[in-house]
Amino acid sequence: MIINLFRQHKRPPLCYNLPEMEDKGYTQVYTGNGKGKTTASLGLALRAAGAGYRVFIGQFLKTGDYSEIKALKRFDDLITVKQFGAPRFIRSKVNEEDRILAEKGLAELASILESGDWDVVIAEELNVAVHLGAIPVEDALFLMSKRPENTELIITGRYAPREILDRADLITEMTEVRHYYREGVPARRGIEK
Ligand code: ATP
Ligand code: MG
Repeated sequence: MIINLFRQHKRPPLCYNLPEMEDKGYTQVYTGNGKGKTTASLGLALRAAGAGYRVFIGQFLKTGDYSEIKALKRFDDLITVKQFGAPRFIRSKVNEEDRILAEKGLAELASILESGDWDVVIAEELNVAVHLGAIPVEDALFLMSKRPENTELIITGRYAPREILDRADLITEMTEVRHYYREGVPARRGIEK
């Protein structure tokens, strides 16, 4: 329990010296209706860990033993993942419990950012949480304002609100040209989940 709490709030305890992020950090947004937003953020987490950086991933609206969660356990000295959602897939409607969980997650992620202990912070599906009304856009902007100079902040999810985009340094829009989802292919283990 103590170890878990420590993991959630502080950079991982390390017995060797790791590099701080060398350069100024930026705010990146991965949005759009095409596949690749979450996988892009996970790819960045992997790359950052390869450089010895500490990465915190906060996943809004999701809880589940996704394949990436299992894989990232192998890097738990550098990458910490925390899920802020209820254990069900939210597509269109949020309830009061979703709102409370999302708000708690946002507050936690804001203090993670503010601590300066993490080189890369990923707010997974934050755009969707705002879009669905689980988080007021002002609160998402508050989170963005907490990014220290040398921390990279990544915000993912379709339907990025204009206010978030206006404050981003980098925006990538994944565009769906074709997706087997439309042929009725659900999310597949190891590929989409
Ligand atoms: P990935 O996790 O593969 O990188 P993503 O993060 O870009 O994808 P999300 O927007 O988070 O994609 O979508 C999550 C899942 O929803 C997809 O993996 C897919 O199974 C399903 N999906 C795909 N297209 C649609 C759609 N048009 N509407 C709703 N759900 C979709
Ligand atoms: Mg996603």
